Amino acid sequence: MSKPKLIVLTGAGISAESGLKTFRGNDGLWENYKIEDVASIDGWHKNPELVLEFYERRRQQAMQAKPNEAHLYLVDLEKDYEVQIITQNVDDLHERAGSSQVLHLHGSLMHYKSTNSSYRGIIQQPLKLGQLCPNGHQLRPDIVWFGEDVPLYPEALDLVRDCDVLLIIGTSLQVYPAAGLAYQAPSHSKTILVDPYADEIPLESQNTTYIIRKKATLAWKELKDLLV
Ligand code: NAD
Repeated sequence: MSKPKLIVLTGAGISAESGLKTFRGNDGLWENYKIEDVASIDGWHKNPELVLEFYERRRQQAMQAKPNEAHLYLVDLEKDYEVQIITQNVDDLHERAGSSQVLHLHGSLMHYKSTNSSYRGIIQQPLKLGQLCPNGHQLRPDIVWFGEDVPLYPEALDLVRDCDVLLIIGTSLQVYPAAGLAYQAPSHSKTILVDPYADEIPLESQNTTYIIRKKATLAWKELKDLLV
């Protein structure tokens, strides 16, 4: 018999206990920078050097961080579920924990792409201004910024629409279109939300939603009870 399909939609909160800061908790700032300065296409056009430095620091920080208990229990769930992670995170902690199917909706700190072609690769050395793809275009972090399309959204939507359980961990559900995935699970499915500040999340429908108001690493027992 095939295993039930479990989609896990994660956000910055799941990596908080690995030491990587979220941004909603900081008055619209991400690591003391204005989000529009470092995480928007306009910010990139205004000051690419600042943006490159910012993401290089995030990359270094992410490489030093370790997956936490929450990243690890998602791997454990693969014994009983066909687990697909859809993360808004740009760190690689799900992969390093051992999750086998991870879709990065908002890109990855560890990869670069060309500003004007499909050329992509893994960042080995800090990206610099003047570092070009073979067609002569500047390289940039392979991150989806505010003001840009989310190319993997249609794939993520198809996955959510076909799930048996939707588990949402550590996202404020304020960044669209990613947040819209929370409302796309089929009617027979079960939705579970894990967030210590869940009451501040603008959840549209809570009919079939179970809420665990705990930090991700402390939610395992309740989660197991809900998943049986
Ligand atoms: P967010 O910062 O808007 O929201 C984080 C959510 O996590 C909040 O609802 C908060 O209550 C919750 N939270 C805090 N600590 C938690 C914990 N220990 N356990 C469970 N939940 C906890 O994050 P978002 O909704 O993911 O949107 C932010 C955007 O910022 C994303 O697109 C992402 O790409 C980017 N971002 C990524 C990282 C990362 O990759 N680690 C870090 C910061 C921002």
